[in-house]
Amino acid sequence: MLKLPGLIDPHVHLREPGATHKEDFDSGTCAALAGGVTMVLVMPNTQPPIFDAETLNIALTAAQQKARCDYAQYLGAGPDNADIVPVLAHKAAGLKMYLDSTFGELRLDDMTLWKPHFEKYPKEYPIVVHAESRSMAAAILFAAIYNRPIHIAHISLREEVLLIKAAKERGIKVTCEVCPHHLLLTSPLPQGEGPGVRGEGRLEVRPRLATQKDVDALWENLDIIDCFATDHAPHTLEEKDSANPPPGFPGLETLLPLLLTAVDLQRLTLDDVIQKSVINPGKIFNLPEQHETWIEVDEDAEYEIRAAEMFTRCGWTPFEGWKVKGKVRKVVLRGRTAFEDGKILVEPGFGKNIRLLEGKL
Ligand SMILES: [Zn+2]
Repeated sequence: MLKLPGLIDPHVHLREPGATHKEDFDSGTCAALAGGVTMVLVMPNTQPPIFDAETLNIALTAAQQKARCDYAQYLGAGPDNADIVPVLAHKAAGLKMYLDSTFGELRLDDMTLWKPHFEKYPKEYPIVVHAESRSMAAAILFAAIYNRPIHIAHISLREEVLLIKAAKERGIKVTCEVCPHHLLLTSPLPQGEGPGVRGEGRLEVRPRLATQKDVDALWENLDIIDCFATDHAPHTLEEKDSANPPPGFPGLETLLPLLLTAVDLQRLTLDDVIQKSVINPGKIFNLPEQHETWIEVDEDAEYEIRAAEMFTRCGWTPFEGWKVKGKVRKVVLRGRTAFEDGKILVEPGFGKNIRLLEGKL
């Protein structure tokens, strides 16, 4: 049995408030524990989005009642809340900025709206940006101008990882994450043509699945990539197979088996997994250590991934039927056995907001 620290996933969507038929703090944190993840950082693009004291309170109240693993909630950057979010920073995972097209209250139409957030959000808490391709270059320029750290979510392209490499070499404070699906899946379609065009809704994800050349560049530059993140973004099968499929994959329960399989294939080392799923997210997001917390993994267990055995409410996975090696057997969180042999053993509300517990975990 292999013993590892509890994993930290810095990028999950738990769909609460607003879309709890897809997931909520209960089902999503059960999925986390089953995947060996003991701390999740939760994205703010819910309905309503989490962008002020009132909406943060809605999310944190739901989490306090339902979460079974530890968590922190991101705030979303909007056009009008640059003076509001810094006051809430100590209660939040960080500030999420959607710099490519998005909808509703978190829309930042032009770069003049980025400026006050870069100026005012406290530097000891991270700004995480969804910024693809040239928007990413603009975000890195902002990090340089305002001399503050940014973390780039879910990189997927060769041009992106090479740009981040160059920025790091110049001393710009940029870190980044990659998702297993961008390391393991490629788009079956010509570049620029999204799966939705041909109705293959289950492959819809943002950033889109890229080419083999991009995937190869990510693997070749793995030392530039700071974190693994799932971008766990559940939608039901009915929604994925509809005429208008929303983008996103579930990922919490497949992260570690896929990574351990890559270790078995010698594409990664176990140290890479610990660095990018525990140590680096801890540093980048200024997270407290979780005491008496570990996971036990049967590293020789070989099996096929099955959505039917998962805790996520969405009922499917893009990795259905994949053969993997390495199964989470037991998760101990703050001294309690939280998961063992397929069963969740802690009650809703056992999970804690790490920002309100710092120093006490
Ligand atoms: Zn996301």
